Amino acid sequence: MENKNYLILLYYCYAEIEDPDAYREEHHLFCVENNIRGRIIISTEGLNGTVSGLREDCSKYMDYVKSDPRFAKTEFKVDHYHKHAFSKINVRFKEEIVHANLKNINPNIRTGVHLAPLEFKELKDREDVVLLDVRSNYEHELGRFKNALTLDIENFRDFSGKVKELEHLKNRKIVTYCTGGIKCEKASAYLLEQGFKNVYQLHGGIIKYGLEAGGEDFEGKCYVFDNRVAIDVNKVNPQVVSLCHICGTKSDRMVNCANQTCNLHVPICEDCGWKLEGACSEACRTNPEKRPYDGTGYYQKNSNGYNPYKGLNRKSLNQKV
Ligand SMILES: [Zn+2]
Ligand SMILES: [Zn+2]
Repeated sequence: MENKNYLILLYYCYAEIEDPDAYREEHHLFCVENNIRGRIIISTEGLNGTVSGLREDCSKYMDYVKSDPRFAKTEFKVDHYHKHAFSKINVRFKEEIVHANLKNINPNIRTGVHLAPLEFKELKDREDVVLLDVRSNYEHELGRFKNALTLDIENFRDFSGKVKELEHLKNRKIVTYCTGGIKCEKASAYLLEQGFKNVYQLHGGIIKYGLEAGGEDFEGKCYVFDNRVAIDVNKVNPQVVSLCHICGTKSDRMVNCANQTCNLHVPICEDCGWKLEGACSEACRTNPEKRPYDGTGYYQKNSNGYNPYKGLNRKSLNQKV
């Protein structure tokens, strides 16, 4: 049994940031000084992050975020782990905290009704409810709620373009869900804007539902955006729904193709993994760019020359000396 001294935090907060550059700088510095790693996006509309660190560092980090009145309402989804779930820290400025092409939508003004995990559990099987998965293909193919409606999208920015296919559901009760809740803030707001009448969202997403409601009826694994790649959330009635890319048997082993010029990210079963030496096809197996296969299908990116201070101003670094 490994010691789970680390935490993995997932959070977002929609709140106006007038000085995103200055805030980005300050936030980045805090992470470096407290050994917080992960991916954080800062925009004029708020912040969105998934990070890892030692328990005590993460608790300092949560205090740091929430002590800023703009982000006081931030809710952290907290998972335990035995090591960092990221190898680097990245704090970036972007136009939106989740790329949705819905910049004009402000969930602080209007969004779908938030459902706590237990409320969601109660509602999800009702006759008049449509569960709408707003995530992308590679995510819902690996795992999704039983009876959920999924969309054929490669990226969340294609969501709004798909809503016209949902016209016939306009008078139904729509409950959206995603990984941690952030996409639903905008997705449900957009549905309301498009004239849908009864729109709800799973607050805190699949992750919080797993932590607080046992994950019942979530079938397959939940795709996550850290080194774990996919996690189990269902402690009640787990199942495998995804299929091996090669042989079609049920498998939830997400791997990257060993041929680094392909790098295809799909489930491949244990047997096929060894047979094709980690490649997704015979062509990839014999490709000169194929990396050696160690049975995991995970390839650490070359982090030689990684500098956590990269992206910071010399000025703010000097102030700290
Ligand atoms: Zn297979
Ligand atoms: Zn391949």
